[in-house]
Amino acid sequence: MGHSHAFIHEQNLYPRPQRAHQCIYCKSTTTEFKSVEHVAPETLGTETSILPRGYVCTPCNNEFSKVEDIFLNTLPMSMMQFIVTKVDKVGRFPSVHYQKVHFQKTSPNSIKAVSQAGRSSRIAATKLPNGMFNLKTPDLTSTFSHIDCARTLFKMAIGAIAIEQGRDVALRPRYDPARSFALHGGTFPNWLLVEKNVKPRGSATLEWRQLEPLGTGALADIFGVRFMFGLEPVEPSTPAPESTRAADYLIFDLRRTDKGPHIT
Ligand SMILES: [Zn+2]
Repeated sequence: MGHSHAFIHEQNLYPRPQRAHQCIYCKSTTTEFKSVEHVAPETLGTETSILPRGYVCTPCNNEFSKVEDIFLNTLPMSMMQFIVTKVDKVGRFPSVHYQKVHFQKTSPNSIKAVSQAGRSSRIAATKLPNGMFNLKTPDLTSTFSHIDCARTLFKMAIGAIAIEQGRDVALRPRYDPARSFALHGGTFPNWLLVEKNVKPRGSATLEWRQLEPLGTGALADIFGVRFMFGLEPVEPSTPAPESTRAADYLIFDLRRTDKGPHIT
């Protein structure tokens, strides 16, 4: 074995494809493994990392397709996707219909919003100091679910750990509660923070690191919406991270299934 070969394996610079199949989400070694798996939903861009075949089993792949679709189709995520889309697949400015409001891009930087609820205007736009607009209308309600959102983010984070550190690290027992939550839903004893200041952009990134006392912490940026979350359970008495303030973040308690945010 040459020196550089050994170096690459030691550093886990890429996963070792010769290893027996094992799913990083359900830990199965015997189910079907038909395809590669995108760490982030494919609609977030073609440059997302890909886990090789043998890392995610077919049943988990199918389940996460559903979970990701639910998350990306909620407001505000689908709205962010509309905002960052320059032109649709046939080269026209995109349009989208939510509940009782029709949105149409009329130029790269302008959006026309028409309420179909009645004659009088039911949409109020306020320009913010950062140049963005705050849109208020009674004809549109958020369908955001912090649980569906967190399941997608947890799935992405475990996939990112497998890519960067290797499958053995992703399979460590410390991530068992996180993989169970990603796969089956329910609740998770930790927090999800969503930064209020959004800078729309057409891509997704995910970073993670060890944080005390939260264990493995991750930061995901999807269409410019920044999410922070802990991948490991914390004690019930652990407060939301001190470095964050409700003025800057929407804070969701993943122990609760009722609609948040839970700290304001
Ligand atoms: Zn699986």
